[in-house]
Amino acid sequence: MYNDFSRLDASLHACGTREKERALVSEQEQSKVAMVIMAHPDDAEFGCAGTVALWVREGWDVYYVVCTDGAGGGPDDATDVGLEAQRRVTETRKREQRAAGEILGIKDVIFLNYPDGELEPTIDLRRDLVRVLRRYRPARVICPSPERIWTPVLMIRRYHPDHLAVGVASMAAIYPASQNPWAFPELMNEGLPPHKVSEIYIMGAPAVNYAVDISATIEQKLAAMRAHVSQVGNFTELEPRIRKFSAEQGARHGMTYAEEFHRAENL
Ligand SMILES: [Zn+2]
Repeated sequence: MYNDFSRLDASLHACGTREKERALVSEQEQSKVAMVIMAHPDDAEFGCAGTVALWVREGWDVYYVVCTDGAGGGPDDATDVGLEAQRRVTETRKREQRAAGEILGIKDVIFLNYPDGELEPTIDLRRDLVRVLRRYRPARVICPSPERIWTPVLMIRRYHPDHLAVGVASMAAIYPASQNPWAFPELMNEGLPPHKVSEIYIMGAPAVNYAVDISATIEQKLAAMRAHVSQVGNFTELEPRIRKFSAEQGARHGMTYAEEFHRAENL
């Protein structure tokens, strides 16, 4: 359903030789590697863990890239917010993210360690993302939206400035930088040739055009969310809200539970 290469096939027929077509398609079939790029530990669990769990079941190798150190996610009533306290928060959140990843069956979590709450879509962040794209060579990338949705009403927490920054930086890293040998020439010297991402799944985008049926993996998503103990607190309060939100997304597509995306193919 979401693994729909029909448009891709059509374009290959139009412009390539049969051999080229075979090489490209088989390369895509072989490289069942996906990457989720996010700002904070737990962003992926909220936005796409059901999809991630499904892809893992289908044989995909999934990697997480967490751009910040998560140090801004300590208790709201904290009074000690010094460096040592921040370090402890970072350690806790990284541990929770790894535990959530294990529940979903992902391959690894890569932390870029930018300061939480201060993320900007800089050239340094773009370069770091191009580096991981070229190193792990994912066919699919999930990332947050670079834009807010204002209707019917702004979801303030969804559009944390770090999320928007990751959206901008990820899109710029995917196209054109990752696939352009002339972008960040220093990466070629690191032994990282260009890599073209085939499919992009954007979470929280202003225009949704795609849904993944997560009815079979919703329990795994909830279990992975529960692993973020320092963030979700009393999960009995949050769990019904997540179920309701996932069911609302599913209802729009004739599914019990779904995660919605804007999906684009990079042809
Ligand atoms: Zn976040």
